Amino acid sequence: MQLVFASNNKNKIKEIQQLLPTTIQVLSLADIGCHEEIPETADTIEGNAILKANYVTKNYGYDCFADDTGLEVEALNGAPGVYSARYAGEPSNSNANMDKLLFALQQEQNREAQFKTVITLNFKGKQKLFEGVAKGSITMVRSGIEGFGYDPVFCPNGFKETFAEMPSSLKNEISHRGKATQLLIAFLNDLK
Ligand code: IMP
Repeated sequence: MQLVFASNNKNKIKEIQQLLPTTIQVLSLADIGCHEEIPETADTIEGNAILKANYVTKNYGYDCFADDTGLEVEALNGAPGVYSARYAGEPSNSNANMDKLLFALQQEQNREAQFKTVITLNFKGKQKLFEGVAKGSITMVRSGIEGFGYDPVFCPNGFKETFAEMPSSLKNEISHRGKATQLLIAFLNDLK
């Protein structure tokens, strides 16, 4: 069975392929000849994951899954949320995003935040959503050089270090994306 992952990130695709039964072949967007930018114009994380998966299924006819992630900060009423990648404007820049976030929270006591990932799966005419959340807090300054995005300023609950100070294996175990991916994998493995 072939299943498209609406992504061209080779690492993400390889990682998920290794966790799935060999009966499922994961294809990238490039593998199916999809080279255009898929619109991500929804105003929720769920909405964007659905848009991406539906774009592939509708235009290319494949069963497909797509993910979308955002950082939701309590004191900012859930911002930057679905706009996390471009919080400080275009083009997307992680350093500028972290600067803007730390500045916005400068006088703020409540630093609670969560990452949320939604994976939408279009499979045999049905749609399923899998959600993973990592709760934590925004640090006062950056720490660590691993990972990407907001990792240097996000400290997950139960840990003293930021995501950027952890080995990727630990981050993947406890992260929003890791949890959503585990739910997707469990669902697909159950189909065997
Ligand atoms: P995407 O939906 O996976 O492209 O994520 C959107 C944006 O959220 C990224 O550009 C990052 O700024 C941020 N983000 C997503 N996942 C993570 C993560 O695991 N750590 C830090 N930032 C993340």
